[in-house]
Amino acid sequence: MSIITIKKCPLCGSIRVKHEFFCKDYLVSGERFETYICKQCGFLFTNKFPSNHSIGKYYDNPQYISHSDTKKGFINKLYHFVRKYMVKNKLKLVCKQSKKRTGKILDIGCGTGYFLNAARRKGWETFGIQKNERANKMAVEYFKLFVKQESHIYKFRKSSFDIITLWHVLERIEDLDEIMEKIYDLLLPDGIAVIALPNCNSYDAKHYRTYWAGYDIPRHLWHFTPETIELLIKKFNFNIAYKKPMLLDAFYVSLLSERYKKVNIFSAFVKAMFIGAVSTVKALHNKDKGSSMIYVLRKNG
Ligand SMILES: [Zn+2]
Repeated sequence: MSIITIKKCPLCGSIRVKHEFFCKDYLVSGERFETYICKQCGFLFTNKFPSNHSIGKYYDNPQYISHSDTKKGFINKLYHFVRKYMVKNKLKLVCKQSKKRTGKILDIGCGTGYFLNAARRKGWETFGIQKNERANKMAVEYFKLFVKQESHIYKFRKSSFDIITLWHVLERIEDLDEIMEKIYDLLLPDGIAVIALPNCNSYDAKHYRTYWAGYDIPRHLWHFTPETIELLIKKFNFNIAYKKPMLLDAFYVSLLSERYKKVNIFSAFVKAMFIGAVSTVKALHNKDKGSSMIYVLRKNG
């Protein structure tokens, strides 16, 4: 297995990076991985992680729902229920922020295609990129969507999209610079990129620490906060036009985190609802504190 070791901060380039903590992959492998932090800019990232070519097996678990669509178990059932509501909200948000009713949407890491399917129903022309073959096949066969492998991103023409979305995807992409440049190239001058990410500065992240499900190591490589995402997007000539906390995520992530602590399902549910509620109240007072955040990016100038 080839391992990527990072010696320089991927955001600011500083070599002043140091070990921060170990984190276990509770979801799939049970293996331990390291996180590093940059002393210069505060960016937290996974280090010594499996390369893009070897990461596949860390997604290879029927429990990995955004790819397999399993409805087994209480948490997965809840996930499906919440997803329906979230898809509606996401579509509302992208339409409002883009100030367009139709156009072309590219969803990078589109999973099994629920968001794109909803967008197409509203009259949008939809395109998806999905690396995982099982999810890719489901999106194509079940929804009859245009969904291709990652390499297809180089086949789209410059300035072709009104909207590019990455719902909980950017944190998984090995080459941050390459993807950010590509998003910039593919967007129309008045286009928007919508990026959803976990926020390791949220109340639930601080509460659960290494148990926090938002770290999702080694699948998540980059652990952004509103401060560090700002540094990234400035580098690529974007500005943040709008941001908002994803309020329901605090409950879901807290529930997963409780389960990682091997708490039984009943007390996990009670505790997670409490921590989720506290996190939500904090995020209502300070929108940079959401368990997950949505950032809407526009090109500068
Ligand atoms: Zn840095």
